[in-house]
Amino acid sequence: MKNVKAYAAHAAEKDLEPFTIDRHEPGPEDVEIEILYCGICHSDIHTARNEWGGTKYPVVPGHEIVGKVTRVGNKVQKYKEGDTVGVGCFVDSCGNCESCEAHQEQYCLNGPTATYNSPSPLDKEITTFGGYSTHIVVKEDFVLKISDKLPLNAVAPLLCAGITTYSPLKNWNVKKGDKVGVVGLGGLGHMAVKLASSMGAEVTMLSRSPEKEKDANELGAAHFELTTSEENMKKLAGSFNFIINTVSAQHDYNQYLSLLKTNGVMVLLGVPPKPSEVQAGQLILKRRSLVGSLVGGIKETQEMLDYCAEKGIVSEVEMINIDQINEAYERTLNSDVRYRFVIDMKSLKNQN
Ligand code: NAP
Ligand code: ZN
Repeated sequence: MKNVKAYAAHAAEKDLEPFTIDRHEPGPEDVEIEILYCGICHSDIHTARNEWGGTKYPVVPGHEIVGKVTRVGNKVQKYKEGDTVGVGCFVDSCGNCESCEAHQEQYCLNGPTATYNSPSPLDKEITTFGGYSTHIVVKEDFVLKISDKLPLNAVAPLLCAGITTYSPLKNWNVKKGDKVGVVGLGGLGHMAVKLASSMGAEVTMLSRSPEKEKDANELGAAHFELTTSEENMKKLAGSFNFIINTVSAQHDYNQYLSLLKTNGVMVLLGVPPKPSEVQAGQLILKRRSLVGSLVGGIKETQEMLDYCAEKGIVSEVEMINIDQINEAYERTLNSDVRYRFVIDMKSLKNQN
């Protein structure tokens, strides 16, 4: 497909602006998708601004994609024109390493191909372009089935924020009655609250923003605690079985480790650009674990989408048009989003 409309950043300090890209024609195993909605993940911002290093410009971010199939290659079996589908954080992997064989393509030992800012598997000189565009072409095996039961704009964020929080809850076997703390009420955080509470956990929202208390309760949190109050933090010491830390900026991990019970686990999901120190004593004296987790494999993403469709779980979204993207980035950085911005891609399709 030639001349596909998109939005790109051309340098770390520049706003995103209209851009045109060429997508490859669908091969035998490919699915061509018209994108209806794309969520804005904080990772898009880290990448557009080169906060992690390694951004290749121009970059077209976006990995919370929902759309309709427009064309399929002749070997595609699972999808046909008109189907509702999704694409998440990666679009390819080697397929035969230990991780891929275990359905954990995100940990592919040969490096998964990210939906954007990754060398294309077809031509390493080309970089993948993400979902801030009207169309995308993706291998069938990396396309997800989306139920039409739920509002599709609110499903889009499940493709990253949903699976990133679902996967650790499953992997660390969070169950009914577990005391779970969620740090940071943003895109990931609000999905963590919804999903953990749907699994029966007693969820406490740990936030710097007092104005989010009511929302946290409505999302399913049983308790809300301000992390800026030293008194609160002291009172909560040793309270949690599991903490999901979604904070996007550098912060003190030790403060949250101290809130874990003996044998408790804190999973880092946020990827602050700058490192932080961990005190060994916080782990050793209570046999606590500090772990990390990256999105989820394709099989588990489908499982999560089906689970959400069954339980009626979607993201809380604020819809924007594509020309509001730079403002949306600033508002996300100011924690002023309830709780995920989603781009209505009609606004790009209809742009002159
Ligand atoms: P987001 O919507 O901006 O939410 C981040 C939240 O963290 C904010 O709402 C805020 O919550 C809290 N926060 C921000 N700055 C803080 C600070 N300096 N100190 C304490 N709390 C702070 O971001 P997101 O889209 O959820 O993404 C969160 C992070 O996860 C990003 O770093 C992103 O790159 C990463 N991520 C990782 C994966 C993965 O696979 N591991 C996948 C997707 C995203 P309060 O206002 O409640 O304090
Ligand atoms: Zn993301």
